[in-house]
Amino acid sequence: MELCSTRNTRQTTNPLWATVDSMPSGGGLWAMESLPRLKSQDQCECAKGSYAHHAATVLSMLFDCSVEAMQKLTTAAYTRFDTPEITKIAPLGQDRVLELFHGPTLAFKDMALQFLPHVMAQAAQAMARKEKILILTATSGDTGKAALEGFRDVPGTSVLVFYPKDGVAEMQRKQMVTQQGGNVSVCAVEGNFDDAQRGVKEIFADEAFAQELRAQGYCLSSANSINFGRLAPQICYYVNARARLVNDGALRPDQDLDVIVPTGNFGNILAAYYAKQMGAGLGTLICASNANDVLTEFFTTGNYNSRRPFHKTMSPSMDILVSSNLERLLFAESGRNEAEVQRMMDSLAQTGQYALQPDIAQKFKTKYPAYSCNDEETAAAIRATWEQHKYLLDTHTAVAVGALAKHRAAGCANSPVLIASTASPFKFAPDVYRALTGVQVDDAFEACQRLADHTGQSVPQAISELRTLPERHNAVCARSRMRDAVRAFVREMDK
Ligand SMILES: *Cc1c(COP(=O)(O)O)cnc(C)c1O
Repeated sequence: MELCSTRNTRQTTNPLWATVDSMPSGGGLWAMESLPRLKSQDQCECAKGSYAHHAATVLSMLFDCSVEAMQKLTTAAYTRFDTPEITKIAPLGQDRVLELFHGPTLAFKDMALQFLPHVMAQAAQAMARKEKILILTATSGDTGKAALEGFRDVPGTSVLVFYPKDGVAEMQRKQMVTQQGGNVSVCAVEGNFDDAQRGVKEIFADEAFAQELRAQGYCLSSANSINFGRLAPQICYYVNARARLVNDGALRPDQDLDVIVPTGNFGNILAAYYAKQMGAGLGTLICASNANDVLTEFFTTGNYNSRRPFHKTMSPSMDILVSSNLERLLFAESGRNEAEVQRMMDSLAQTGQYALQPDIAQKFKTKYPAYSCNDEETAAAIRATWEQHKYLLDTHTAVAVGALAKHRAAGCANSPVLIASTASPFKFAPDVYRALTGVQVDDAFEACQRLADHTGQSVPQAISELRTLPERHNAVCARSRMRDAVRAFVREMDK
């Protein structure tokens, strides 16, 4: 399988190389030329084995390699999870929650970022890269920690994470600034996530700076969800979940499974889209947003408008106004129309907005239901779900649950829907606890303890152990000084 640029289909690469050279030169993203087709029989049989094996069967099709070779990577990737099935599927009334947060950092980002370093190491070897890989990542909270854990002490790599200074939850900040390992660093950026993401994108586009780094023995790569090496392993959990539900008799083999995803940068839901195109048996894909409802407006009107007030919400990992991976959906759904993608992305860069052609806008409106929930509705979803089902939601998954209620109220779904659950509620304990009790507890650890007492669940060890770890990374920089932060990090690494 080949990948091509969304803005120039003659520019191609292979999936392995794309994990290291994560963006095409000249802008755009790597997109799949055509998707391999899953064999449905195999998939259900495969799902009876280990997750690592099932994921390897899917990934081997995407990376054009043997299942055995891929299974070496997936076996190494999926060792640090607290459940043998890697993901759990929990009933919630007639629906199912796909718990994707059982990895070391308690967010779904681990599903991809525990895998990425292994495939990147393979790629660097295949490409005979002499330079060390320097991962630069902008995070809205969870990618940063997951990237730091994934790449920690991996030979030949180092990671620098930029996070919005006042834009992440206290526990997310704590997880990052206490990170251990000899090849990692973290820097706060003055601004919001879009500022940090734009800063990183500018660095990637700066050829002179790349040359400067190459002279020092480093090549830049990204661990953001625009990296194909992150998207690919995310496809697997949708294939796996649908197959498990069929195997368990919860779904007929011919029944499609609708999916709702709490969305930020559009990576997770795009993986569901790819899984569906591959024949995984998925139905309608429903996009859930928080008060930053740019995607809701886009799917219902065909207009993407990032020029709007930025809201800090209790689902900070979704506080995003420029959803990078949407470009890949535009590419696929416009019939791989590179000129059309270029037109829209130029417009976005110049004016902060773009509009779909009317026929495509109409198609999007009917094909992709989209809803948003503000903080009040999100808190209500947490409370109602606990009261009715004794099931505890985190603030991001609660956006999806609230959105699903709106979808149902519109009369749109009567079969079970798969709800992608993206984080442990304990990561966002002050907000979850306040949603349940109305009581404000500012200290994140104290809130975790209260939440545990209130619900009878236990605080995950990955959180309780943070309490005593020293804060190691306290750098802050202006958006205009992010290159200097990279230079300082490289000097530090070379010491
Ligand atoms: C990253 C993240 C999201 C958004 O996922 P995208 O792939 O960026 O759409 C949602 N919830 C949580 C907890 C996250 O960490």
